[in-house]
Amino acid sequence: MSRTTRRSILKMAGASAAALSMGTRALPASELPGRSSAEVTGSQVAKSSDVMAIAAHPGDAFFAMGAPVAMAAQTGAKGFLLSLTLGEKGSLTIPPAQYGVFQREAVEKAAALMNAEALLLGYQDGTLPANDEAKFAVCDLIRQYKPSTVVTHWKGSWHKDHQACYDIVQDAIFYAGLANITRELPAHAVKRLLFADNWEDADGFVPDTYLDITPVCDRWLQACSAFPMWRGENGFRYNDYYASRAVTCGCVSNFKQAVAFMSPADQRVRHIRAL
Ligand SMILES: [Zn+2]
Repeated sequence: MSRTTRRSILKMAGASAAALSMGTRALPASELPGRSSAEVTGSQVAKSSDVMAIAAHPGDAFFAMGAPVAMAAQTGAKGFLLSLTLGEKGSLTIPPAQYGVFQREAVEKAAALMNAEALLLGYQDGTLPANDEAKFAVCDLIRQYKPSTVVTHWKGSWHKDHQACYDIVQDAIFYAGLANITRELPAHAVKRLLFADNWEDADGFVPDTYLDITPVCDRWLQACSAFPMWRGENGFRYNDYYASRAVTCGCVSNFKQAVAFMSPADQRVRHIRAL
């Protein structure tokens, strides 16, 4: 069946044309993730939602999750990049204490370029614990900054810190939204969780949502270049991978440049209203 035919049928059914296209959902620039399905497909034009990236390391927050944060800032919402560690052990040649300084400088510079706010929790790189202390620390930041959308690691990663971050975020969102869990700040319900397209978390990652990042792509890539590892200094060419990945995702989603996400199973259920 051709795309035109699919679109025609969906138009007749009164549903979102993107809802069934190749089994994926495409989000235009004005529709940042973070609203419920009813809001996205409804007739009301809602404002963009605040987005928080939560990553094990700053490189993940900015390279794999930074584009939707930059889009949030571009469209008048707030963007936050929370790194649970500083990624200070990421260099093969520079001692962690010195590399951590470089990482911190890069975080601040990159966040400023993206008009976003950088947050750090300060756990040790390589030994990020998936315990209640970390989960409640993230819970408290979610309650403080109130993002509608959280972007984080998919669990299919070879990196133990990334797996730990996945676990931490799942429970942090649960704790943040439960009013009967008493913390300093009141509960906040995150509307949407999305898993980022990260070369280190590729086991079982199946994209189902694409976000148009064309308006911010150049600025996002420029922000990423603040990091020492961006150009392959540590053995992986992040710049080539993420820049070309944005083009590839754009090709399959009919945008110039895009990023892909995977949704949790419960968010993949679609509700299509009768006429
Ligand atoms: Zn990482």
